[in-house]
Amino acid sequence: MPEDALITATAAGQILKKHDLCERCLYRLFAEKFRPPSNRLLEKKLNRKQKIFRCHVCRNLFDSLDRYVKMMIDSSSEFSFSTFSVGAILKPSMIDRDDAIRSTCRLRGTSSVKTDITKQLAKSYSAHTKKILDPLDPDVTFTVNTKDESCQLRSKSILLSGRYVKNSRNFSQKQKPCSNCLGKGCRTCNFHGIAGFESVEGAISELLFKKIGCTTAKFTWIGGEDKSSLVLGTGRPFFVRLQNPLKQRIRPLSKGDGPVTITDLKIATNLPLRPIKFSSKIEIQISTDSKITSAQLERMNQLQSTLVAVCDRSGKRTEKKISSVSYEILSDQKFNLTVNAEGGLPIKRFVSGDGVVPSVSSVLKMRCNANEFDFLDVQIDDNN
Ligand SMILES: [Zn+2]
Ligand SMILES: [Zn+2]
Repeated sequence: MPEDALITATAAGQILKKHDLCERCLYRLFAEKFRPPSNRLLEKKLNRKQKIFRCHVCRNLFDSLDRYVKMMIDSSSEFSFSTFSVGAILKPSMIDRDDAIRSTCRLRGTSSVKTDITKQLAKSYSAHTKKILDPLDPDVTFTVNTKDESCQLRSKSILLSGRYVKNSRNFSQKQKPCSNCLGKGCRTCNFHGIAGFESVEGAISELLFKKIGCTTAKFTWIGGEDKSSLVLGTGRPFFVRLQNPLKQRIRPLSKGDGPVTITDLKIATNLPLRPIKFSSKIEIQISTDSKITSAQLERMNQLQSTLVAVCDRSGKRTEKKISSVSYEILSDQKFNLTVNAEGGLPIKRFVSGDGVVPSVSSVLKMRCNANEFDFLDVQIDDNN
């Protein structure tokens, strides 16, 4: 017999004289690696059929796994998914007893009590539900806690993309986070992280909570607008990541009524790594501090196909392209300007000239103010 096996057999004999082990622990520790058993006591114990009193390692946990499998089935009943994985939290004393035997008996390579428990849970859950074990990329992950006899389930987050059209001048893009948890999710906000539904974010979230079910919905917007701005045309694109969704796959969703229309909400594969390049067609209502004539307004053509330099508060300079300009005089001191501009142009500052060169004010050589601006369309650039 190789030396290692001899040490194992001798140590095993000593342990088995002192302690009882359940069938599952006996097999896990000794049978797989050292079959046929070379120790008579071990052999006798492996062959015996009678019930053991109390397993030294697992305290008979393997006998009560059905209870945990039932918890797994219950906690996943509302979720629709195909693959899963299981983790377990055990009492440290159980892991210590298991480690002690494995080290005195030189059982490196045999599976630990924790590994075997998760293996048995997965096997049994899979047999009951026909779900597939996928430890690498599971749709849902169970954490079975034998310390407090509970089971937690988390499902893989999903990313959706969609567009929204905003028909109301009194609706912000973003929703205030829940004041209790600041957006993380708590009991007060039903784990959603937001304080209400009276915004674009709120309206989309409400649809997602109702149709898919999830805890938090985190948005990535392709640009933004003022509370008073309309978003028309095909609408503004956005991405949203849902934590803990009840479903992993959805049919495209849309919602047509109310101040916000949501279209083409569907699963997206990946959030773009770089900021998405886009352009917007914006109609700006401008007032001037002195009288303006149609002839003066023709100077607006100078902005056609120009690069506008934008300095932010920290002094960082970026350039935004204006690709086309059109205008219409409304009264002595008011006109409408429609621009096609690269995404991210700060509209109010582009009109007033605050840190933006050239600006509507600088071209007209008079102080101008943007009263209101609406997005007629938002286009994602083809070469993203
Ligand atoms: Zn055991
Ligand atoms: Zn909260």
